[in-house]
Amino acid sequence: MSGRFEKRGPVGVILVDNPPVNAISQGVRLCILDGLKQAEADADVKAVVIACAGRTFMAGADIAEFKTGPKEPHLPDVIAALDQSSKPLVAAIHGTAFGGGLEIALGCNYRVAVRDAKVGLPEVKLGILPGAGGTQRLPRLIGVEKALPIILSGDPIPAPKAAELGIIDKVVEGDLMEAAIAFAEEKAASGGKHPRISEKTIDRAALPETYFDDMRRQVAKEKRNLFSPQRIVDAVEAAATLSFDDGMAKERQLFMACAMNSQARALQHVFFAERQVAKIPNIAEGVTPREIKSVAVIGAGTMGGGIAMNFANAGIPVTVLEVSQEGLERGLGVVRKNYERSASRGKLTAAQVEERMALLKPTLSYDDLKDADLIIEAVFETLEVKKQVFTQLDRVAKPGAILASNTSYLSIDTIASYTSRPQDVLGMHFFSPANVMKLLEIVRGEKTASDVLATALTVAKTIRKVGVVAGNCHGFIGNRMLQGYGREAGLLVLEGATPSQVDKALYDFGMPMGVLQMGDLAGLDIGYRSRKDQSPDAYEPKSVRVADRLVEMGRCGQKTSGGYYDYEPGDRTPKPSEVTQKVIDEVRAEYGITPRAISDQEIIERCFLAMVNIGCEVLREGIAYRASDIDIVYLYGYGFPAYRGGPMFWAENEIGLRNALEKIKGYAETVSARWWQPSPLLERLVAEGKGFASLR
Ligand code: NAD
Repeated sequence: MSGRFEKRGPVGVILVDNPPVNAISQGVRLCILDGLKQAEADADVKAVVIACAGRTFMAGADIAEFKTGPKEPHLPDVIAALDQSSKPLVAAIHGTAFGGGLEIALGCNYRVAVRDAKVGLPEVKLGILPGAGGTQRLPRLIGVEKALPIILSGDPIPAPKAAELGIIDKVVEGDLMEAAIAFAEEKAASGGKHPRISEKTIDRAALPETYFDDMRRQVAKEKRNLFSPQRIVDAVEAAATLSFDDGMAKERQLFMACAMNSQARALQHVFFAERQVAKIPNIAEGVTPREIKSVAVIGAGTMGGGIAMNFANAGIPVTVLEVSQEGLERGLGVVRKNYERSASRGKLTAAQVEERMALLKPTLSYDDLKDADLIIEAVFETLEVKKQVFTQLDRVAKPGAILASNTSYLSIDTIASYTSRPQDVLGMHFFSPANVMKLLEIVRGEKTASDVLATALTVAKTIRKVGVVAGNCHGFIGNRMLQGYGREAGLLVLEGATPSQVDKALYDFGMPMGVLQMGDLAGLDIGYRSRKDQSPDAYEPKSVRVADRLVEMGRCGQKTSGGYYDYEPGDRTPKPSEVTQKVIDEVRAEYGITPRAISDQEIIERCFLAMVNIGCEVLREGIAYRASDIDIVYLYGYGFPAYRGGPMFWAENEIGLRNALEKIKGYAETVSARWWQPSPLLERLVAEGKGFASLR
């Protein structure tokens, strides 16, 4: 049993004690039931406080039970027992009362909390819904219109706000236990009837007739393709229309539907993948990260400005170096505009905008970088310019300063070789927009020191990014795999699909936008220029022929109001383009291709299996440590839908590795023997009947 029952005068205290976060394990559930029994049996006990030892109230389910399956007593039964208590129950909340923790608190008659506590029902983030009465009690307590958005967002609510909403009865100051006991005594003495949430009713007629249908439509738009949010609306509708018992039965049924849906498994995979990603094998034991108190960024273009903002947001001063005063002014001007936009949306105060801008120190002189602990280069993507910059950095940077490159494709080892200190050099690859995207790909060069790697991981956390360590190769993890994705999209267009069909299939799959539209957004000229530096056998010329022709016609994408699609000036909505279609027809004729009908399924399989096949090579070569790291790269760097778990999880669980291999072999015959060569790692896994987890 994880915890104990003790008496404090007329008040019984059930003190749950299950470090580190008082997860609601079987032991915790037993402790609550046992405490309740003792309290019921003792006539001297007039009221009961449920509180937790350690740093938090019960912060949620016991994740270990996700794997073993739940054991008795089940949480809904424990909460039903609380609900039936003949003595008033007070939940005393500190830290976080999340998920089952809040549901337990809602099973009590009263809730008190310290000021910095938080409550919330985050189940939606794991693809499920609160399954121990949360969807039935919260709307009964605070009303449907307040409760539903809380359950749908899954976000934490600070105690003062929770009190305002009516979730918490009182925010207490000073010692929580003392305050909760006093509160319980007072309630017991008042002699009145103690409120039971299960006995409250909701007036459905007070809500607009179309309320739940409107919410379903809104959820379909805002939580595209997600299964559990729709079930949450159903569950809350049940709270508003059925008796408490029937509502509970409905909640259970909807909970089970969510738990058995593939999205729940995928989202739980993401949960664990995120926790694993920072664990780096073969990093020397006990390395201490270097201290990063000041940063410098070279280049204030698209990426440099966003990178600098990340540090300013974390309160770290950043020196920004450019080649010209004009470049500095333009770059910092964009940063200021970004901050001002946040301020206009109420996310920052005017003073905060100024504070952050004041942390950015513009300069044209390398000598101003001599004190920086970390220097991140984000200049043009050519080795020549990188060489100029790193030669300068080697000259001015203090010993022990970390020198990072934001390069998308270039070799970190080559870049490191421009310095006399390759151990201090690594890749810190941000994703655009750099102040928004959560991914930081950390590229480990051959000579990168362990403590430099550890520092980059710590820095990622400081600036609220998810750091994923990658080995050094052309495009690292993300962009290397992206090449297969883009290649197949280009080929599919030649073989008979329209750009809109390809993009719509990818969008419907769950990507934020299709890959051709993404090309228009980033600028088709970027790929065009980078191909000029690549050997022609590094890519499939057919797949880029249309894009190259478009660039040569001056159609570089959104910025020129035309690329794969047409755009009205100032409008980002892609419109099918007759000009592009003519180019496609001409290129088809050039290669003697007769267009055929292409199914959406073929688009999905080819775009993502091409990516996954390269992902297997990335694993085989040790560029990524784990398949789940690759998934994280795609979720946070490219917007791959979390409810599919990432490309590797998708291949393993939605397609199946054996099936994926068969399809890849099929495409090797029908599309290209060269590009669809199955990864030997995939062949081995299938032959041995193993999955990606066996590689860890
Ligand atoms: P950009 O053209 O927008 O900005 C580059 C900036 O560097 C320009 O402002 C330029 O004036 C400045 N610059 C050039 N040479 C310099 C020098 N010697 N010293 C100081 N400043 C110099 O380019 P970007 O899109 O920000 O890309 C920068 C780097 O980031 C590239 O390596 C690119 O591959 C990488 N990257 C870009 C993206 C993206 O989506 N744009 C994403 C990830 C990584």
